[in-house]
Amino acid sequence: MKQLRYLRNVSTLKLDVETCIGCGMCTIVCPHAVFVIEDSKARIVDLDACMECGACAVNCPVDAIAVRSGVGCATGVIQGALQRTEPTCGCSDKSSCC
Ligand code: SF4
Ligand code: SF4
Repeated sequence: MKQLRYLRNVSTLKLDVETCIGCGMCTIVCPHAVFVIEDSKARIVDLDACMECGACAVNCPVDAIAVRSGVGCATGVIQGALQRTEPTCGCSDKSSCC
């Protein structure tokens, strides 16, 4: 799903490569192909595609993934898609945000 993009460089997704055992579960459950397995380890290949759904962290058997899951800025991404503008969640204005 390459057409919906998260706001750039704001995803909270973190991967502890040392802890990863390369099971591949994150590549299976991630709906946006954020991970690949290379040399028996997961690697983040598309951080900005992460929608912070939390599926990867929940399904990682060794807690190698951390992400602050929730609605995040998904609304901003959807609004941007609908209005054909850059996604924005209003972080730069006075409203509180993620
Ligand atoms: S939080 Fe969701 S979208 Fe982001 S990497 Fe994990 S499974 Fe993929
Ligand atoms: S689910 Fe966890 S252990 Fe499995 S490949 Fe992904 S990061 Fe590594």
